[in-house]
Amino acid sequence: MAYNVEKSDQEWREELTPDEYAVLRQAGTEPAFVGEYTDTKTKGVYNCRACGAELFTSETKFESHCGWPSFFDPKDSDAVELIEDRSHGMVRTEVRCANCGSHLGHVFAGEGYATPTDQRYCINSISVRLVPDDES
Ligand SMILES: [Zn+2]
Repeated sequence: MAYNVEKSDQEWREELTPDEYAVLRQAGTEPAFVGEYTDTKTKGVYNCRACGAELFTSETKFESHCGWPSFFDPKDSDAVELIEDRSHGMVRTEVRCANCGSHLGHVFAGEGYATPTDQRYCINSISVRLVPDDES
């Protein structure tokens, strides 16, 4: 599909750090429990680190203890794009930024978390950037 933000691979490489590029543009996964937002409780909005689109808010962030920032719902239903991912011998649902197509993480459902949606958007810290409410 066509995204609002379309850049060449070369442009992404120049704009992102190697670690950001590996996750956002090559669908990598940062190691568990090391991401800067894993346990963050600061109120604010999480923007796409590649294009700045608003993706998640602290209102839907919850403690999943899975090692990555977890949200039970995106900020807006059309903020993210969900794609079936059959890599690594599993059937998962990949979560991408709907504005630029960058990889954010995966969404899992029916795990029994006590959240309104029973969904866990498992998002790489390095894919997003928190803008605290008091700075916006
Ligand atoms: Zn984006």
